[in-house]
Amino acid sequence: MHARATISSKNRRVFAPAMKRAAGLFSMSLCLGLAAGWTPEVYAATKKPAESAPVEAPKPVPPPSPRLAPLGQVPDWNDLDSYQRTITKEDFEHQLRHCYARNEEAFAGKIELFGDFARIIRQSSDAGKGYYDLHYLTDRRKTNAGIDRYWKAPWHLPPVVIDSRPLEGLRIAVDAGHIGGDFAIKEGRYYTIGEETLPITEGDMTLRTARILEHDLTLLGAEVLLVRPGPFPVTAERPPDLMGVARDWLRRGDATRYLPGQLVETTADRLFYLSSEIRTRANKVNETEQPDLVLCLHFNAEPWRNPYRPTFTSRNHTHILINGCYSSSEISEDDTRHEMIRRILQRTYNYELPMANAIARTMADETDLPSMGYDGVQGKSVNDNPYVWARNLLANRRYFCPVIFFEPYCMNNREVHARVQAGEYRGLREFKGSARKNIYQEYADGITGGLVNYFRQVRNAR
Ligand SMILES: [Zn+2]
Repeated sequence: MHARATISSKNRRVFAPAMKRAAGLFSMSLCLGLAAGWTPEVYAATKKPAESAPVEAPKPVPPPSPRLAPLGQVPDWNDLDSYQRTITKEDFEHQLRHCYARNEEAFAGKIELFGDFARIIRQSSDAGKGYYDLHYLTDRRKTNAGIDRYWKAPWHLPPVVIDSRPLEGLRIAVDAGHIGGDFAIKEGRYYTIGEETLPITEGDMTLRTARILEHDLTLLGAEVLLVRPGPFPVTAERPPDLMGVARDWLRRGDATRYLPGQLVETTADRLFYLSSEIRTRANKVNETEQPDLVLCLHFNAEPWRNPYRPTFTSRNHTHILINGCYSSSEISEDDTRHEMIRRILQRTYNYELPMANAIARTMADETDLPSMGYDGVQGKSVNDNPYVWARNLLANRRYFCPVIFFEPYCMNNREVHARVQAGEYRGLREFKGSARKNIYQEYADGITGGLVNYFRQVRNAR
């Protein structure tokens, strides 16, 4: 007889957010828009003038505000000057169409493609702010050696000297997704099923995997940095610090709008764990750690059929993300568009895709899980590998270096739940008739095996 799934009333309220896509770092603007049930356009369309309003002289119209991602900054387009004439027209257009833009309409009106240059609108809400012209490389005798980036491309690393240390000379940042610990419930990455079982908290599971990777990749020669070293946030901000920002965000376009307190609190919570936290990690990575590669660790989940009576899902799968698939509204955000263009110019795609392919092979072998697919909207296929998808997340966009983002295992699958209960045992144990490593070591080995194969092959190719 199957064990009955139970949930305490204390935990009931955390199920629904916990089981929204465990990809988790979903578009903040979408979340906040849904939370508010409101957009400036919709609100303006429903607002009628009072019938007996006195006639007044028209007030001067303020200039349109820039469209930005939550907590984003207005970009300085001249930051891209160092990339002038460093990319060919073919390379730029191929990356934009094939990987970065979800489709042709996604960049229409924001990026115009000409014969010798791409013309990018500086502020999408106001064409009067002008355009940034990115000129293409036309002299093909020049190489990519001078591209402005803090990370080393693998083909610029020397050949492997000691066979047991194929990652020598590499700086790898391991980013354990979410926060865990005391924050697991607030960030909605928590559930329990059954009496006297350990809660499933994604942020603690990613940290366990990160610590194994730190140990194992160091033995293989890499310098490893944990972006989040413990079960606590990297950002110093907390939700109460973000209440004012949350109110401003919700009131965009209408300073008089009534805001229920609960809505402001929920928005401040999301700004804390989805935006401030990831932006702070990105600043640490870009300004201090400057690694050659970031590995973002997550566990996936399937939506609960009934969040108030949770039962296990029979589904279990794995996939790997590279950055791409920007929607029209994402490319309309000035900071997001600037970050996307910078990624194209840094050629992270040329590095992320073959590495994701290499790791997908070992990850599929280790986890023995099938792939998971997207419908071309949230994620986009960029090759014939069913495990590898392009998706735009704050973490894989804001880290200005190659990022491989992992989404193996459904946390609300019965076998995964049992394996998490078993913890970090040594050796093998039987689950559903198969001898398995502990789930954290298996996850880490899936990554390590692919990295070793990839770097041995690239570094020894010359
Ligand atoms: Zn996650």
